Amino acid sequence: MSGRIESEAGPTGRHAAGLFAAAAMHRDSNGNALHAPVLVLNASYEPINVCAARRALVLVLKGVAMTEEENGHFLHAARIAMRVPSVIRLLEYRRIPHQSRALSRKNILLRDRNTCQYCATVLCSGELTLDHVIPRSRGGSSTWENLVACCHPCNRRKGNQFPLEVGMKLMREPRAFNLHTSRHIMRLMGRSDDKWRKYLFY
Ligand SMILES: [Zn+2]
Repeated sequence: MSGRIESEAGPTGRHAAGLFAAAAMHRDSNGNALHAPVLVLNASYEPINVCAARRALVLVLKGVAMTEEENGHFLHAARIAMRVPSVIRLLEYRRIPHQSRALSRKNILLRDRNTCQYCATVLCSGELTLDHVIPRSRGGSSTWENLVACCHPCNRRKGNQFPLEVGMKLMREPRAFNLHTSRHIMRLMGRSDDKWRKYLFY
């Protein structure tokens, strides 16, 4: 473990609350320090995930990962005190499969960054609906490629028609959730954290 001593670290990625279930956005004061989000790097320093500090400490203790950055807190357990990591790195390179995330309303909104894909309005989740680009009544399926975040006015305007039929256009082609999307989310989470920044912005 490195000998750096860091001062109090602020909460990270407050804009991204709820994006990663593992990284519940607790203020990292003592009791909640184990829930603080930790950036996980591959052996190659490529950011691959975010996990809770508790999980990160387990990976470090098992010798699977090493601490690259600390978050300024200590975990006191029995007779040892461990520095809580802010960034860890896997010691062995792992091939990351082109993981697909579960198709869900939450993940579609996440992919589309809570932005109506027709008019570009950013809304809270409750004010958005999902639109079938090719309407279900016309054979459209419920897939990553055919579902987009949509505001209610656009959804009403589009009705059971193809976008072009009503002069509407998608901001971008809907795609499955992939590592690229995950990296974008990690960047949102790490934007306010200096210790994450250098691994996420390059
Ligand atoms: Zn709209």
